[in-house]
Amino acid sequence: MQKTFKIGIDLGGTKTEVILLDPENQILLRERIPTQKETYEQILNGIKFLIDKAKYILHTNYKNPDFTIGIGIPGIVDQITEKVINANTTILIGNPLKKDLEKLLDHPVIIENDANCFALAESIAGIAKEYQNVFGIIMGTGCGGGLIINKKIYKGMHGIAGEWGHFSIDPNGPLCWCGNRGCIETFISGSGIENQYFKKTGEYLKVPEILQNAKKNKEPAKTIFDEFLENFGRAVGGIISVFDPEVIVIGGGLSNIEELYTIGYEKVKRYAFYHSVRTPLLKNQLGDSAGVFGAAWLT
Ligand SMILES: [Zn+2]
Repeated sequence: MQKTFKIGIDLGGTKTEVILLDPENQILLRERIPTQKETYEQILNGIKFLIDKAKYILHTNYKNPDFTIGIGIPGIVDQITEKVINANTTILIGNPLKKDLEKLLDHPVIIENDANCFALAESIAGIAKEYQNVFGIIMGTGCGGGLIINKKIYKGMHGIAGEWGHFSIDPNGPLCWCGNRGCIETFISGSGIENQYFKKTGEYLKVPEILQNAKKNKEPAKTIFDEFLENFGRAVGGIISVFDPEVIVIGGGLSNIEELYTIGYEKVKRYAFYHSVRTPLLKNQLGDSAGVFGAAWLT
C-alpha cells in the first residue's frame, strides 16, 4: 500500500498555519501567514497558497505522492447542509467551505472544528495519548470542546458535540453571542471574566491583571475569581456526569491558571454526580501546535 502524506491547516482568527507530515509524521513544512479575512475568497486563497507550498514540496521530492488535506476552522460545519455555522470568523458562516475548497484545490478535504482538532491531537500525541476516551476543553477568549471516543472525533448529529461552553447555567446571566443567556462561556472564558470585571467596576482590565488583583485579595477581582473556579467546577463536573471520559485535557490561554488543577478540581468533584471521581484533569502538552497537528491527522 502506498504511504500517505498529510497536510494540515489551522485556520485561526489572526493566523493560518500549514503543516506537511511524511508517513512517519516527520515535519516537512510548517509555516504560518496572517489570516486575510475581509472576504470569503481571501480566506480560500490563503488556504490554497499554503497548500500549494506543501504540494510543491511533495511533487518535487516524491513520485506521485498520495496525501490527505485536513483543515481546522474556528467554527462548525453542519453535518447535513455542509455549510459553516457558528464560526467566530463570521465571514465563513453560511458558506459551503468543503465544497468550495475541494473545487479550488481539486482534492478531497476534511474540515473540522478547531477544538475537535485540539482534542484529537492531544489524544494521539499529547498528554492524553494513553487514553481512548478523552474530553478536550479549550478555555481562551471563548470556551470550546471536543469529544474523542476510541481515538476518533465524535461529531454528533449536527457537528456540535462537545460544545460545553454554550450550556446555559443562568437564565438571567449575560447575553451570549449564540443568542442564549448565561452560557458557561459568558462566565469562565477570558472575555467572560473581563466583561464581569467591567460590569462591576466600569474599568476594562485584561485577564492577567484581574488574576493578579485576585491573588492580592483585591475586590472585586477576588470574588470574580472565586466565582470563576466555582463555575468551572459546575461546568466540568457536568461534563463528567454526562460523558464520564477517562481524562479531561485543558487547552487555551486560561489553561495556565494553576488553581484550576487544585481548588478548581475539588469543585469539579463536588459538582460531578459522583463526588469521588478520579478523572484526571490535565494541562495540554502540545500548546499552540495541537490545532495544526490535529488537522493533519483528520481522517
Ligand atoms: Zn452561548
